[in-house]
Amino acid sequence: MSDATTNAGLFERAQRRIPGGVNSPVRAFHSVGGTPYFVGRAEGAWVWDVEGRRYLDYVQSYGASILGHAHPKVVESVREAARAGTTYGAPTEGEVLLAEQLCERVPGLDMVRLVSSGTEATMSAVRLARGATGRTKVVKFAGCYHGHSDALLAAGGSGVADQGLADSAGVTAGAVADTVVAPYNRVPELDADVAVVVVEPVAANMGLVPPVPGFLEGLRAACDAAGALLCFDEVITGFRVGLGGASRRFGVQPDLWCFGKVIGGGLPLGAFGGRQVVMEQLAPLGPVYQAGTLSGNPLATAAGLAVLGELDAAAYTMLDGRAGELAAMLEAVVADAGLPVQVPRLGPLVGLFFSESPVADYDEARVAAENGIYRRFFRAMLDRGVALAPGPYEAVFPSLAHGRDDLERTADLAAAAAAEVGGGDGPEGEGLRRWKPLQPSPGALQPRP
Ligand SMILES: *Cc1c(COP(=O)(O)O)cnc(C)c1O
Repeated sequence: MSDATTNAGLFERAQRRIPGGVNSPVRAFHSVGGTPYFVGRAEGAWVWDVEGRRYLDYVQSYGASILGHAHPKVVESVREAARAGTTYGAPTEGEVLLAEQLCERVPGLDMVRLVSSGTEATMSAVRLARGATGRTKVVKFAGCYHGHSDALLAAGGSGVADQGLADSAGVTAGAVADTVVAPYNRVPELDADVAVVVVEPVAANMGLVPPVPGFLEGLRAACDAAGALLCFDEVITGFRVGLGGASRRFGVQPDLWCFGKVIGGGLPLGAFGGRQVVMEQLAPLGPVYQAGTLSGNPLATAAGLAVLGELDAAAYTMLDGRAGELAAMLEAVVADAGLPVQVPRLGPLVGLFFSESPVADYDEARVAAENGIYRRFFRAMLDRGVALAPGPYEAVFPSLAHGRDDLERTADLAAAAAAEVGGGDGPEGEGLRRWKPLQPSPGALQPRP
């Protein structure tokens, strides 16, 4: 095979022209080992690599593809939009329709501005909060990821955690001097300098860590008492954990919201929004500057509208049910293999920790992520044709395209993968506990050739 048709060949070429061979660090497989698969195409719950091997996909672009890959309605909407031109630098009806849809679904969300990524959304929300309050400090929580803007890179989860970086080189002490990092799931003390408290209302970048009862309500009360704004980073949870995202699900309204992933239907799109008095501080109405050549891009808004059009209450009920089945089956088969396991779930979001006890914050998440089991389980699953995220700090993303058969297949393959890992016959057993001997669970599927 020529090097354009193998994963290894493409990876080698990629590394010559793209740092690490990837355009986002976690894709390089550093924390799980091996060569990343290069995707040739994808459909529904499946991706095919350039060698023609297929994987049942639980990455789904980190949740962006909630309908599954290449959903016909999304493909058709994008095709149709492209025929009318791909970008104009002038406003379009699609932007208005999408903004209306977002505000209609999320109580308290009066206005939004569309951007091109989650990073841009959170970065702009922080600037807006500082501009609107005239204050400087930002409070964030350890293990929460808010994209890669300087002020928010301190103690980030996801790829930052995965690369073993406390934070990034190139971020000056000045850039994070006004960022305060607090432990997740505990309400911090706020002083009169705090402009905004930014939080993932369900943390999904240190594995999945739901909020403990009272945490979000406590943040709301603390912000009110201190005169600070509360910002929910719903880039993952928005339009994933339910019709109106986490704020609607938990009944706690922040002042600002950030969205991304799901709302772009797989195209580059983010949004930040909030109460009208705050949003009207943005240029051209107010003094806080924010802009973007491709903001509100017509292909992205078309894809986003197509996705939201499919996401009604019945869709969430179905996704919730599927995620519930997946979580229960995964937990059972992995535990059967003698591995310590926690499969936290919040509605359609699923997590996977190889831990004896539940995880409530970043310190606990790190203990579970760094015991080496995820790496081995990931490899054993990938060998069997199931793609989990290539890092222990990510969530598991079932989509609406994952049918019952797919879930059962996943459970069978997970049983076999867990048996392999638990049996200690993986490639690197050193430093790992020896698990009790195993019996492969009855009915486990054999790996496909
Ligand atoms: C993915 C993510 C971001 C960053 O979004 P990008 O589109 O990757 O820039 C921000 N916040 C959260 C909670 C995320 O999961």
